[in-house]
Amino acid sequence: MASVIIACILAAGAPAFDTAEAAAIAGLRESATLPRSQSFEAAGIVYRCGDAYTYSDQKVGNDRFGFKYSVRLPDGAILAALFHTHPHQVTEADPTKFSPDDMAQADKLGVPSYILVVRYREVRRYSFGGKASGVLVGRFK
Ligand SMILES: [Zn+2]
Repeated sequence: MASVIIACILAAGAPAFDTAEAAAIAGLRESATLPRSQSFEAAGIVYRCGDAYTYSDQKVGNDRFGFKYSVRLPDGAILAALFHTHPHQVTEADPTKFSPDDMAQADKLGVPSYILVVRYREVRRYSFGGKASGVLVGRFK
């Protein structure tokens, strides 16, 4: 009998975290530094690779009302969370709120979603499945 385990191997130098939430917060911290991220949404994903969580490269949109992006997971990696920014130029409504699309995406994928509210430098979580939305989980200095 041959049995195989498809293992994810974290890229050398990739940031590693103990929790998906820590990785999402670090990813959002990086998102806020990207060119154009003060005007447009930046987004990425968190995945589990072996025992560690890490975040993907981020994409910055070019439309006022969000954008679509794609990410390739490394072999064996497991999607663990989504994250994106809410620059106030994009979000005319309360930027601390997840949009219906934000929540639908997290529900569909079955993972929590995190937003950085750029104006307040706050990180907020939606725990998917209709659970509490907009829970404050971090604040940048
Ligand atoms: Zn959003």
